[in-house]
Amino acid sequence: MSFVNLGLAPGLLRAVADKGYDTPTAIQTRAIPAMLSGRDVLASAQTGTGKTAGFVLPLLHKLDTSYGRAPRALVLTPTRELAAQVAQCAREYGRHTGLRVQVIFGGVGMQPQIDGLRAGCDLLVATPGRLLDLEDQGILDLDHVAHFVLDEADRMLDMGFIHAIKRVIKLLPDKRQNAMFSATYSDDIRALAARLLHDPVAIDVAPRNTVAERVEHVAYKLPKDHKRHLLAHLIKDGDWHQVLVFTRTKHGANRLTEQLEGAGIRSAAIHGNKSQSARVRALEDFKANRIIALVATDVASRGLDIKELPHVVNYELPNVPEDYVHRIGRTARAGATGHAVSLVGPDEGGLLRDIEKVLKRAVPYAAAPQFAITVSAPPPPRPAQHAPRSGAHAPRQGARQPPRGQGQRSRPGHGAPAHRTGNAGRFGGGRKH
Ligand code: AMP
Repeated sequence: MSFVNLGLAPGLLRAVADKGYDTPTAIQTRAIPAMLSGRDVLASAQTGTGKTAGFVLPLLHKLDTSYGRAPRALVLTPTRELAAQVAQCAREYGRHTGLRVQVIFGGVGMQPQIDGLRAGCDLLVATPGRLLDLEDQGILDLDHVAHFVLDEADRMLDMGFIHAIKRVIKLLPDKRQNAMFSATYSDDIRALAARLLHDPVAIDVAPRNTVAERVEHVAYKLPKDHKRHLLAHLIKDGDWHQVLVFTRTKHGANRLTEQLEGAGIRSAAIHGNKSQSARVRALEDFKANRIIALVATDVASRGLDIKELPHVVNYELPNVPEDYVHRIGRTARAGATGHAVSLVGPDEGGLLRDIEKVLKRAVPYAAAPQFAITVSAPPPPRPAQHAPRSGAHAPRQGARQPPRGQGQRSRPGHGAPAHRTGNAGRFGGGRKH
């Protein structure tokens, strides 16, 4: 199967070729003809399957140029990052078509978006909140929307957008084509699909665990306060250049970023408290390999599109097992294989078992490689009798006297058996497993 067989306009085929793609992915093979036929579509597809092009290409195909100022296609996404990425994708695929793409999302000034809308656009990509804000101000004209796509519908519902979505739908003309993309199917999603879609073509090319199958999963059990040391070791010893690290909280993301920086690993955090420009900058730095570790919360990571991301680390396991699937969906994209590491604290074993149920496969614990526990600043001198009992923060072979191997960590590829024996016994906390 090649893109040529899908019946897309020549300008779109050129843009696809410009991007270097010759074979459509499974979702593209099914979603593109379904959307071109004009029918409603219900597609089960995760990030990483090529779903964006699966709806963007047929939308661009269906829109003709110079119709007017009001958009004729609307794509709704849960997050600003995803909106920006979908718009970027539409601009790239639409570069030979003359079609205009606008994107609107919150967290940034409204005026440029208002100006953009006034200048006119053919395809509009938006997050629900800002879309409704602009609607309330009377700036938006959705009367000509003939194609409506709800992307990552499950995320939308998770983020509490159901009422916003219903409001948006009410603003659209009755006669239109609808498509809904969702990675998971809850009763709420089914109810929304039943409300939105008419006799949809159902496409299910990505059962939940296909990405999971392509990913190498590793779990290490260890005390909480050892996690950052093991992570620093994995990054340095494995010579990792790009790793996406997930924490459960924004605060945790900030703290870990500082700790990694303290360990000499260039890092940035990306979460909802960061300004849009800070998030964009962090993402750009990460993509350009200016930072090694991007530390993210689940919400902030949604829709991140990072090509060939080799490593994902679950610094803390997610409370919702499906989030694990979304997290690791950032690696192993479009056919590549990936590596997912979970650092499992003493109280997180149950979460890992829940994840295994969703994955329908075991994620066995591996013995942690030997890692050093370092402190960034020299600890204050202490009399020997006051040495901390746990030993976790100030092992005898701590920062100032690194254990064998630690001083060589920047040397790539060393694999002496001593480094594979696990840290239990070398550091006090290791025995607690
Ligand atoms: P998505 O699932 O839409 O987020 O896309 C995942 C990644 O796959 C993106 O980096 C796309 O650029 C890439 N991609 C999309 N379509 C193809 C294709 N036909 N061949 C190879 N890569 C693709």
